[in-house]
Amino acid sequence: MKIKYVIGHWTAGNLKPSCLDLKSYQLLVDGEGCVHSGLAPGCTSSTGGMNSITYNIACCGGLVSKPLTKIQVEKFYLICAKKVKEYGLSPFSFYTHAEIGEMCRGYKLKLQGKSYDTKHQIITDLLPYNKWLYQNIGKIDLTRLPDFCGNALETGDYIRTKIVWYLKRL
Ligand SMILES: [Zn+2]
Repeated sequence: MKIKYVIGHWTAGNLKPSCLDLKSYQLLVDGEGCVHSGLAPGCTSSTGGMNSITYNIACCGGLVSKPLTKIQVEKFYLICAKKVKEYGLSPFSFYTHAEIGEMCRGYKLKLQGKSYDTKHQIITDLLPYNKWLYQNIGKIDLTRLPDFCGNALETGDYIRTKIVWYLKRL
């Protein structure tokens, strides 16, 4: 199994990980910035259709009632940088789950002959199509950060900029 992408998530649960959360990702960062180990790559249902080629890192919380914290996201950016380096990837191999969702939506719309948001890649630029990819459509992971909110691509770009910053300091 070769890791090709690092995918960022939020749990949409509490700021501390639940038992289910711990079985759903490879690493999790809680609201205090503590890192929790989940399961090995390929052993979680994190990113539909991509679990065997992705390393999945989640911030605990994220919804309006449980907003992510500053200390949490800074630790998240740092560990994303460390994993990108560990797997010999580029910071542009990081995507949020929301971005993957938009790429899958783009593919579906393209197949239907409809117009789609061409600012995003389409998912088949990343891997061959499989039927589980559509599970990612509608995901909004990490579109609301402590000091930045935006659409999938905007928040993905913001996080990649942070990862680049941390990579230079590792
Ligand atoms: Zn997710």
